[in-house]
Amino acid sequence: MAPGRTPTQPREAFKADVLRWAAKVGVTPKQVRIQRMTRKWASCSRLGRLTFNAALLRKPRRFRQYVMAHEVLHLKVPNHGSLFKSLLKAYAPEFIPQEGDAPFADVEFRRSSFHASRRRRRALAEHSKEDAGQAPS
Ligand SMILES: [Zn+2]
Repeated sequence: MAPGRTPTQPREAFKADVLRWAAKVGVTPKQVRIQRMTRKWASCSRLGRLTFNAALLRKPRRFRQYVMAHEVLHLKVPNHGSLFKSLLKAYAPEFIPQEGDAPFADVEFRRSSFHASRRRRRALAEHSKEDAGQAPS
């Protein structure tokens, strides 16, 4: 997949991308919604409804893809255990945040989970300090 950034992605294209991830992972979301969220990038309800933060539409493509893959995987694995991590690595290796990724550091804008573990959050907080202002490549 060619790297690239789309300044603003239309909602329908965003939803189509989410459904593409769902097909890849082998799950069927009951509903995909995009709405304003203040504390999270996305959430997954127990009934299989995925909700994404509308602010993602203006985020770099790579970060959007990561959030989509992450959330879609929750329809399969409802936690962040080793199974979740290995599936994420298997399905979306190129989108897993790397050190110094400015967009992922942004995850810190809300206090509660993205749902990163405390250790991960601490690591990210370090990164955002070190790499403040660095643009994603
Ligand atoms: Zn999660």
